[in-house]
Amino acid sequence: MGFFIKAPRGTRDILLHDSYMWDFVLKTMEDQAKLFGFTRVRTPVFECEELYVGSSGAGSDVVSKEMYTFLDKSGRRLALRPEGTAGVARAVIQDGALSRYPLPLKVFYIMPCYRYEKPQNCRYREFTQFGVEVFGSDSCMADTETMMLAFSIFRELCLAEKTVLKINSVGCSRCREGYISAIKGYFSKKFSYLCDDCTTRLRSNPMRILDCKVDTCKGIVKGAPSILDFICEDCADHFYGVKDCLNAVGIDYVVDPSVVRGLDYYTGVVFELDYRSSSGTFVTICGGGRYDTLLEKLGGGMTPALGFGIGVDRLLVSLEDSEIDIKKAPGPDIFFAYTDRQCAAFCLSLVKELRLRKICAQLDVKGDRSVSAQIKYAAKKGARFFSVVGGNELSDGKLILKNMKTSQSFTLDIGDDFCDNVLNLLKRSDSIASL
Ligand SMILES: [Zn+2]
Ligand SMILES: [Zn+2]
Repeated sequence: MGFFIKAPRGTRDILLHDSYMWDFVLKTMEDQAKLFGFTRVRTPVFECEELYVGSSGAGSDVVSKEMYTFLDKSGRRLALRPEGTAGVARAVIQDGALSRYPLPLKVFYIMPCYRYEKPQNCRYREFTQFGVEVFGSDSCMADTETMMLAFSIFRELCLAEKTVLKINSVGCSRCREGYISAIKGYFSKKFSYLCDDCTTRLRSNPMRILDCKVDTCKGIVKGAPSILDFICEDCADHFYGVKDCLNAVGIDYVVDPSVVRGLDYYTGVVFELDYRSSSGTFVTICGGGRYDTLLEKLGGGMTPALGFGIGVDRLLVSLEDSEIDIKKAPGPDIFFAYTDRQCAAFCLSLVKELRLRKICAQLDVKGDRSVSAQIKYAAKKGARFFSVVGGNELSDGKLILKNMKTSQSFTLDIGDDFCDNVLNLLKRSDSIASL
C-alpha cells in the first residue's frame, strides 16, 4: 500500500478544465501586454531577504508577518518572493538595462508569489501574479497607459462593466511630511480605539493605518484628513494630468483617498481596480501605482517608475462569479478509431501529417478498445469529426469523416490532397457553425 500526502495548506493544483481557464486568462494578459509594447521578464523565485526588507519596509505586513524566509545550506538569508516589483527592479538594475535600452523600459511578468497568510477564499499562500512595470518615465502619460492596459485586459475578459477604477495620490516625500503630522495628530486622539497593529503603526508609519483591514480602524480612517488636501503642486499637477488623460480616453474612474496600497515604496498616483461581485461586494483584483524612489533606493540611480499587479487567482474567481460564458476547452478537430494494429499504425502516420498542418488530430492510445468504445471516447473528448480506419478503408483508399454534431458524412481520398481536404472540411464546418 502506498501513502498519500496532501498538498501543503494554502496551495492548490490546477487541473483539466481549470487549467484551460488559466491558459485562456494568462494568454489574454500576455497578448494585451505585448499589444501595448511590453516585453516579458523572468526573475528567480527566491531573492535575498534584504531586497524585500529594503523595498517594502521592515514594518510592512508583507515583510514582518507574511514572508517565507529561510537560510540556505551556506547560511544565506533568502526569501520566496512575496511580490514581483522588487525582484524585477533589482533585475533591470543588475542587468544595466536602464542604460543599455531606450527608456522608458516596459516589461511584464507572470509569476507565482508566496505569502504566509491565513488561507481564505481566493487567498492562497502560493498565488499567481501578473504584473507590468515601466521604468524611466515621470509623465502622466505612462500612468494612464498602464491603467489603459489593466482596463483593456478586463475588457477582453468581459469584466470591464463590473469593475471600478479608483485613483488617488499618496504624494511625494515632500508633501507627505505635512500630511503625516496631520494624521498623527488625528489618530493620536483616537489612540484607544485603534487595533494593536495600528498603535505600533502610529509610531513607525502612520500612513499604514489608512490601509488597516480591521473594521474599527476602517471606521476611524473614514474621518481622517485626506492626503489630497496636502499634496504639493508637482504632485497635484501630475494627478490632474492623469485625470485629464483618463477623461480623454473615456475611462471612468473615482477619486478615492482611501486607496493607499500597502507598501512603502509607492509615491504619487496609485490606483486599484475593484470587481463588483454578484453579491454586491467589491474585490480588489488589480492594484498599482508610482514608485519613483524605489530604484534609487535599490542602487539603480534616480529612475521614475510605476506598475501594477493583477492577482490571477482572484481574477479567476471573479470570472466565475460573473458567469461570463468562456469557451470550453476545444476538443480534437478529428479523431481516428481503428480496427487492428496495422490500421493503428496507419492512423499514427495520418495524425503525424495532420499535426504538421496544425490540425489537432488524435487517435486512441489505449489500444485495446472496440471501435464503438473509441468513438464514445472521442465524443467525450468533444471531437468535431471522427473517422474509422479498417481494412476496407485501406484497400479502397477512402476514409469517411463524420461530423459528430450533425452526423453528416464526407468521403475523402487517402492521397496527397488528404490533409488539404481535411483542412478545407474543418474550415467549411467552422463557417457553417457560425451562421
Ligand atoms: Zn509632492
Ligand atoms: Zn488597525
